[in-house]
Amino acid sequence: MRLALAVAILAACSSGSKSPVAPPAAAVPASAAAEPRPAHTWSSQMTLAESGIVPGWLDRTADPCTDFYAFACGGFLNTATIPPDRSSWGTIPLVAKDAEDFLHKVLEDAARAPAGDPVAQKLGDYYAACMDEPAIERAGAAPIAPLLARIAKVTDGQTAAQAIAGLHAQRIFPMFRIEQQQDFGDATQVIAALDQGGLGLPDRDYYFESKGNMARSRAAYVAYLGRLFELLGQTAKAARAAAAEAMRVETAIAKLAQDKVTRRDPHAVYHRVDRAGLETTVAPSFPWGDYLKALGLPGVTAITVNAPAYYTGVAALLRTEPPAALRSYLTSVVLRTQADQLGKAWVDENFTMARVLRGTKELPPRWRRCVRQTDSDLGELLGQSYVQARFAGDARSRAIELVRAVLDAMRSELDHLPWMDDATRASARRKLEKMAYLVGFPDTWRRYDFAVSRTDYAGNVLAARRWELARQLAKIGKPVDRLDWEMTPPTVNAYYEPSLNELALPAGQLQPPFFGPTFHPAVNFGSTGGGTIGHEMTHGFDDEGSQFDADGNLRDWWSKATKDQFAEATACVVDQYARYEAVPNVKLNGKLTAGENIADNGGVKLAYQAYQTWKAQQHPAPPSQVEGFSDDQLYFLAYGQSWCEKTTPEALELAAHSNPHSPPRWRVNGVIVNQPAFGPAFKCAAGAPMAPANQCSVW
Ligand SMILES: [Zn+2]
Repeated sequence: MRLALAVAILAACSSGSKSPVAPPAAAVPASAAAEPRPAHTWSSQMTLAESGIVPGWLDRTADPCTDFYAFACGGFLNTATIPPDRSSWGTIPLVAKDAEDFLHKVLEDAARAPAGDPVAQKLGDYYAACMDEPAIERAGAAPIAPLLARIAKVTDGQTAAQAIAGLHAQRIFPMFRIEQQQDFGDATQVIAALDQGGLGLPDRDYYFESKGNMARSRAAYVAYLGRLFELLGQTAKAARAAAAEAMRVETAIAKLAQDKVTRRDPHAVYHRVDRAGLETTVAPSFPWGDYLKALGLPGVTAITVNAPAYYTGVAALLRTEPPAALRSYLTSVVLRTQADQLGKAWVDENFTMARVLRGTKELPPRWRRCVRQTDSDLGELLGQSYVQARFAGDARSRAIELVRAVLDAMRSELDHLPWMDDATRASARRKLEKMAYLVGFPDTWRRYDFAVSRTDYAGNVLAARRWELARQLAKIGKPVDRLDWEMTPPTVNAYYEPSLNELALPAGQLQPPFFGPTFHPAVNFGSTGGGTIGHEMTHGFDDEGSQFDADGNLRDWWSKATKDQFAEATACVVDQYARYEAVPNVKLNGKLTAGENIADNGGVKLAYQAYQTWKAQQHPAPPSQVEGFSDDQLYFLAYGQSWCEKTTPEALELAAHSNPHSPPRWRVNGVIVNQPAFGPAFKCAAGAPMAPANQCSVW
């Protein structure tokens, strides 16, 4: 959703930090640099289960050379059922469930704890307020009354702009969003950034197109908005009319919005217009002075927008739409974004869209939703106990050892790449040397200095949102903080942030079966080294990341000849994945998924090289065989098993329309067919489906 797209393993991209004084200096946080090299001992009697491979997930009747995903994950896929409160089930959801179960206990204990410990107190109060369903029911729609009162005053474009400013200050974003970002043109500066927003369906295409279940989703969405208006007390007829008006305005906004493939080009989403440009050229009729003042940014002049025409269009909508339609739209945004903080009837209505879009059958239990909300709003308080329990001992030093090994492999790759000329190679090396990595958890824990009430859940969520927005906007004009995390420690995910040239690996991702301190190293290299570290590192050099230089500036550092070769290699990957189907008759978007696919392919290839080099330095060497599997086979199996996952057809289709990541099956088989080392490892006949003669190779 933001301009500088942090690229994660999964769908999540959160907002983050940007800018100045010095561009990326120290390549590694001090704590990581000081981490000692861990010692290794191996048991020659290691079992497959001890190695980190899950034996029951394999399907030994499948031929790995024909369908490697079936071989690595068939045992799981043939027996697992998706829990009714989820849209997918597999490796990542299992690890996430384990983290949530742990945090559940922490929060239950905190909610019962006597006063005294301020961290436990805040966590306990936040969670207890969320769990207090009777109090939430009693409050009714009162928590959103002040937000709605503001909207009720809208009588023209100017009063609508005032209402928008008030909602934005609460981190509720009708029409567009405001955030901060590192200036793509000068990575030493943090500037204000406006981005498109204010849509309730997953992507702009859902408003106009009828691919797959888009038309059905659109109809369900209007009906759902209508029911929210009814819950607010409107008659069925008035509610239907209000929903139709809101949808008409939303569709007009969607028409202005950039499509998701366009948005992968950093040049297409960066337009530094500054305040004067906004006020005189882009959207003179919008009261920018009042708006920025309401956001606490009265003096800000440095501003970028995703696309100037979008704001011109939004300002025109505010002038031309009838005030009643604007009120309906703004009200609908408040209702759908706040419903989860209200009583059961509201929450159930919000869930109807999850049913349609993802095929989820049941709402997750209250406690799980409250754990997730606490992680979202107080994540670095909640994450402290998780890190102590689940990322102790030498886990961090072992993870850092993996990062270093993959970095070394990338260095060597850069030295030998035949298609890269020397000038570009020197710039690429510089970028790699400046790439920073955050591992496990932050060096300094964030302090959440806003008040939490034990009796006002909706108020707490609004307070947390206000605080987070203020924290982000306060970065504008200040030195960049490279140690600020965009994900919380228990998150089962990782990211690379191109404008910071930095990758981050939360402790939640560095867990079994992805990673275990006593696993066979081939397994740790295969899943965490390739699937996580190598993947994120490659993002620095994918079709998008390659447009940023070592310091995070959007700058072309590629020679023409090398860039042409890179484009050709990328086109091979685009074409390859565009042939795959997510569900019958819905193919993957090769352009949308190109960056992630390049990262998947490069990551697995790099980490394989990293493992070979690392292994040669170990005395004694790790076991070369485990229950008949060679260590090379363990390497690929570990990568394959990191993506064992069953997904509802609805969620697969949603992802195909909106997610830059390929579905799990293709994240495995699409990568395996491009790995030169795979065929030899599994002794596949030349030309076997998983060992084709023609392979795509970018990194
Ligand atoms: Zn990624």
